[in-house]
Formats: sequence, structure tokens, C-alpha cells
Amino acid sequence: MPRPIEAIVHRDALAANLEVARQAAAGARVWAVVKADAYGHGIANAFPALQRADGFALLDLAEAELLRDLGWRGPILLLEGCFDGRDLETCSRLHLWHVVHDSRQIDRLAALKTDRPHRVFLKMNSGMNRLGFAPDRYRAAWLRLDALAQVEQIVLMTHLANADADDAAATLPALAAFEAATHDLPGERSVCNSAATLRFGERLAAGGAAWVRPGILLYGSSPDASVHSADAWGLAPAMTLRTRLIAVQELAAGASIGYGSSFTAAGPMRIGVAACGYADGYPRLAPGGNALGTPVLVDGVRTRTVGRVSMDMITVDLGPVPTATIGSEVVLWGRADAGTMLSIDEVASAAGTVGYELMCARAPRVPVTVAA
Ligand SMILES: *Cc1c(COP(=O)(O)O)cnc(C)c1O
Repeated sequence: MPRPIEAIVHRDALAANLEVARQAAAGARVWAVVKADAYGHGIANAFPALQRADGFALLDLAEAELLRDLGWRGPILLLEGCFDGRDLETCSRLHLWHVVHDSRQIDRLAALKTDRPHRVFLKMNSGMNRLGFAPDRYRAAWLRLDALAQVEQIVLMTHLANADADDAAATLPALAAFEAATHDLPGERSVCNSAATLRFGERLAAGGAAWVRPGILLYGSSPDASVHSADAWGLAPAMTLRTRLIAVQELAAGASIGYGSSFTAAGPMRIGVAACGYADGYPRLAPGGNALGTPVLVDGVRTRTVGRVSMDMITVDLGPVPTATIGSEVVLWGRADAGTMLSIDEVASAAGTVGYELMCARAPRVPVTVAA
């Protein structure tokens, strides 16, 4: 029998979450962001559920190639653009759209021999200070691209640093900077990640010339979990990480659990040992000390971790679920057989991280299955 851990990808949730993005930004076209192997879900697993997207956005040429092999003929966007001249030739061959964020990428486009003009997303730096042209250099970059025979369309783009901030107004200066630098340039616009799609999609999609770029929301995690839960946004978890109990321990008062004996039983206690640890992608920093545990579902009942997360195991309090025994289902996040849910965002918040990181951290040793 294989070790009982598995990740389940819920295609119904992916498709429903894509609809949430569409409705939040009605009239806009939607890129499904599937970088990092669809945020750990697997591009091939996610693709059939996301075919109602208008295009797929990612970073990696191998992932673009995979989407073409899967039969996707529509738009594909490279979010970091091309890293060298060879990539540009691949873009011509696979018909990929690509981000242009610095002048060397324009130099290489100018030197490219192609009879298939490219579509590019010209990126403005609106305050994130990672990639993109500063607002005062944006127009010159646009004019250079516009003059190239190798370019047939330029979409105006930026990426927001604070779209998920507790205070929604924190992103207004970046929106204003983008608007000021682009208001008299022609062409479509692409501004919104998941947080901005949900919060500002209605406003920014008005006019019908927008492309939104939701990623995390497709997977059922809230982009601003400290303000709105996934549930509050109407998002359903697209991944369940689940395993089973492989041992049960009866502790006497004063006995402790796991490395460092970080949890000590105050009275007699039943503990379940679940086959999942940090080598599976569960966060080692998920707390399990006496003061605080990390939520987990055992046979669909909410309980908590106790003791430290180790490489291959975690230990959980079976107090709330006295019928649990070896073989009982343990859901680390997602949907339990009983129908109960545990949001990945709750686990992430307990461990001091975000749902994004937990999804992407699913280890290769965890097999993935697909539910319809
Ligand atoms: C990853 C990424 C997105 C998607 O961000 P989410 O917060 O996951 O919605 C959008 N745009 C760019 C440029 C990205 O790199």
C-alpha cells in the first residue's frame, strides 16, 4: 500500500472560481495565471477546467509548450517576457505574447527576423520597483515598440504592489500613476491581479478593453485573506491535501510529543499520528505548542496539531474526535469526505505565510489525483 498522502485537484472549483473572476470584472478578458505549474496544482490537471479563460499566463517556456501540446491554440502570455533572442524565436514559433519590461528586450525584438509580428505587454513600474519602465520613460518605450515592424499590438500593463493591502486605498497612487502615464496612449490595458480583480475589477474593466490576470483566486485562496476569507469572496478550494492516521498514542498527564517535547499533555490525551510532514510541503513553522495549534480536520472534525511538525509526520489532538482511529482521514487543507472544509488560508496564517506558498510547496513525493 502506498503512503496514504495525496493531493486532490478539484476541477469543479477551478471552473467556478474562474467564473467569480469573470463576474468581478465583467467585460474584461481573463488570463488564467498558471505559472509555477498552476500554483502547484499541475498545468495538465488544471487546464481542462480553465478552458473558458481567454488566455493563459505563465513564465516558463516549457509550460507554454505543454499548453500547446495539450491543444490550447489561444493566447499565452509570458509574464517576465523573453530572457534572450532564442526565446523570441520560440515566441514566433508557438505564437506567444510576451511582456516587455526593459529596453534590452526592445533591442532584441528590433533585431528579430520574423514574418509573424508579435503582441507585447509593455510593463510600467507603478511602484513595485521590480520590473517595468518608470512612468517618465514609458512613452518613449511605447514609441520605440510602435515603430517596429516586428510588433503588431502593444497592451499597456502594470502590476500592483498593494492591491491586497488591508486598506484598499493603498493602491490608488499606483493606479493614478498608471493612468497618468497611459491616458493618451491607445490600446488595451492590463492591471489587475486577483486582489485587484475582486476589489476594482468592475471599475477597471469598464470600457471593455481590459485584460485581468487572476492567479491565486482560481485556486480558491483569498488574495487578501486578512480582510476577506475565500468563502467571503465565493471561492472554493481547488486543492485538498489529505492523508490518514498511521498510529494513535494514549498520553498520560505530563507526557510530551515529538522533537523538542514542545507540547506537554495537561491530562490524559489521545493523539493521532498523521503521515504528512514538511517533506510533503506542510509548513514546519505551523505551531503546535501548548498555547496554540494549527487547524486540521480528522474524519471531517476540526481539531489541531500538537507538537512540532517533523519531516514525515505531524501529531494531532483527537480530543474532539474520540472515534478516530488508525486509517481515519486527515485533511491538512481543502475538503473532507464528510463535506467539511478547511481553508488553506487558515493554515497559512497560523504558520505565518500565505496560501500561495503552501500550494507551490507541495512536494513531488505527494501524488496528485484529479476530481471532476
Ligand atoms: C503572478 C502574477 C499575477 C497573478 O497574481 P495573483 O496574486 O496570484 O492573482 C498577475 N500578474 C503578474 C505579472 C504576475 O506575475
